[in-house]
Amino acid sequence: MRLTRYFMPTLKETPSEAQVVSHRLMLRAGMIRQASAGIYSWLPLGFKVLENIDRIVREEQDAMGCQQVLMPTIQSADLWRASGRYDDYGPEMLRITDRHDRDMLYGPTNEEQITEIFAGSVKSYRDLPQLLYHIQWKFRDEVRPRFGVMRGREFLMKDAYSFDISKDEARRSYNKFFVSYLRTYERLGLKAIPMAADTGPIGGDMSHEFLIVADTGESEIACHKDFLGMNLGADIDYDDNLQPIVDNFTAKYAATDDKRDEAAEAALGDDLVVARGIEVGHIFNFGTKYSEPLGAKVSGPDGEEVLVEMGSYGIGVSRLVAAVIEASHDDNGIIWPESVAPFHVGLINLKAGDADCDKACDDIYKTLKDQGIDVLYDDRETRAGAKFADMDLIGLPWQLIIGPRGLKNGVVELKNRKGGEREELSLEAALSRLTA
Ligand code: ATP
Ligand code: MG
Repeated sequence: MRLTRYFMPTLKETPSEAQVVSHRLMLRAGMIRQASAGIYSWLPLGFKVLENIDRIVREEQDAMGCQQVLMPTIQSADLWRASGRYDDYGPEMLRITDRHDRDMLYGPTNEEQITEIFAGSVKSYRDLPQLLYHIQWKFRDEVRPRFGVMRGREFLMKDAYSFDISKDEARRSYNKFFVSYLRTYERLGLKAIPMAADTGPIGGDMSHEFLIVADTGESEIACHKDFLGMNLGADIDYDDNLQPIVDNFTAKYAATDDKRDEAAEAALGDDLVVARGIEVGHIFNFGTKYSEPLGAKVSGPDGEEVLVEMGSYGIGVSRLVAAVIEASHDDNGIIWPESVAPFHVGLINLKAGDADCDKACDDIYKTLKDQGIDVLYDDRETRAGAKFADMDLIGLPWQLIIGPRGLKNGVVELKNRKGGEREELSLEAALSRLTA
């Protein structure tokens, strides 16, 4: 993509309404624009990142055997009356009346909807487990929408649902999501720490929130320092018994503010880390809370009717765009992890308008594109300083810098955004580095 043709309205000034760094950088980089409080439009650069995250989340759901569906944003109030949540949900729910005076709502989540679909179609224990997910916009009329897309009113969520014949089977499904979430965050370049969360009246130990450490997080968290260096390592076979992997994570202390335990923290001594965290996911088993009121039953092995055991599993896809920035930036701008970067490399023509520079850049641009490398070519006739600043701001992993002096000597410059190293090398060497 040529920058002269790309719609990327960057801002020089720091927008005064933005309180956290991710919000500031998303506005400055021209990724989003506010439509109204807590509601945003995604411009090309931001939308590319959103799509990259969406894809990784999808690939990991598919890999664990979860099937994608797409449920509507608008739901019938009657369904929510049947579960008892129409009144319980309160003012966060956006209620709508259609032209026939029927009560509708813009879905804040989809437990009722998916349970109705399941109940209408699955009748035998032989068809279990069922694992279904969708990635769809949600609306919650948050009291205090803030921090840009981090706490929006309209936001993109991946929500998955599991249906099992027994509590033991439900735990197997839960463990699959637990492990697949760890893998998802790792691919996004994030360390997300699983922390025991409230299960409410249902009880049990099957509820975890996943939080990434960032100074601007809304909750205070405390955990064993080992969590900061953990990773999942080798490939996972989802048909294996995943309990030991889950236990390995849950054995260590990690708690959000309302779950903190003074004695446990004192015992950790120097191994304790207290930080702030951003919730990027939540997995939750809730037994028969929805299957009972909505009649989701199957016939069991002995012909008896059994209420299915259910769980739901959310990832904040649009919040993750901001969370990645909170976790990875410097004073000059965003530093995208390769996996979610909107482009792999930014090609900077230091002297656009100069015949030699233009020719060299056009050739490189074509070569990279032919090799399937996503490149943003800064072909603007502006000063070098402005180009460097914009490229640092939008945080592409690599910058390939072409200038008249280098061309004379047969060299180009390659900069790694993350490490900041700049290196002069031959064009061939630079290209082979970028296509490696
Ligand atoms: P929070 O405590 O942050 O309000 P929640 O418990 O209401 O989150 P869930 O219902 O578990 O959230 O939703 C699943 C995921 O969706 C959350 O982990 C979070 O990443 C994301 N999410 C929730 N609310 C918002 C919001 N207002 N804006 C953006 N993302 C959100
Ligand atoms: Mg909430």
